[in-house]
Amino acid sequence: MASRPARSSVRRAVRRDPQAALPELLRAAARVRRNAHAPYSNFLVGAAVLAGGEVFVGANVENSSFPLGVCAERSAVSAAVSAGHARIDAVAIVGGALRPVPPCGGCRQVLSEFCARDVPVVYATPDGEKIETTLADLLPQAFSNADLKATGAPKPPSRLKRIS
Ligand SMILES: [Zn+2]
Repeated sequence: MASRPARSSVRRAVRRDPQAALPELLRAAARVRRNAHAPYSNFLVGAAVLAGGEVFVGANVENSSFPLGVCAERSAVSAAVSAGHARIDAVAIVGGALRPVPPCGGCRQVLSEFCARDVPVVYATPDGEKIETTLADLLPQAFSNADLKATGAPKPPSRLKRIS
């Protein structure tokens, strides 16, 4: 019997305190991991982020054109940002088997766009082995928008400003 897909809708967080929300985020990440589309790697990952007191989830979504696949972390960030949040307060990831797998380099950079340096990040195996850290530990000396300002990069054309 095929298992029923996990709900992927936005869920109200049990707690607003980021550290206290980590267990709930881990449970949400484990649930959404069941929705991962990973027929090529069979490497299922679920992620959950806390933003505005709500939990947003995402699973990895692979594609037959391999570079078009999206990591679970970026799926969850996109869900939170699409709902109007620009700040993420905590991150949980469930995946791997032999060890908890941390977010890839690309996802660390994406998280740094929306997370303060001290945001807690926990990553765990489906069996519950976990590692707790912070974004600063995962991505020291991150590239940021402050670096763009420092170079005097040109501002976007006015037509782009109107729709942003
Ligand atoms: Zn990634």
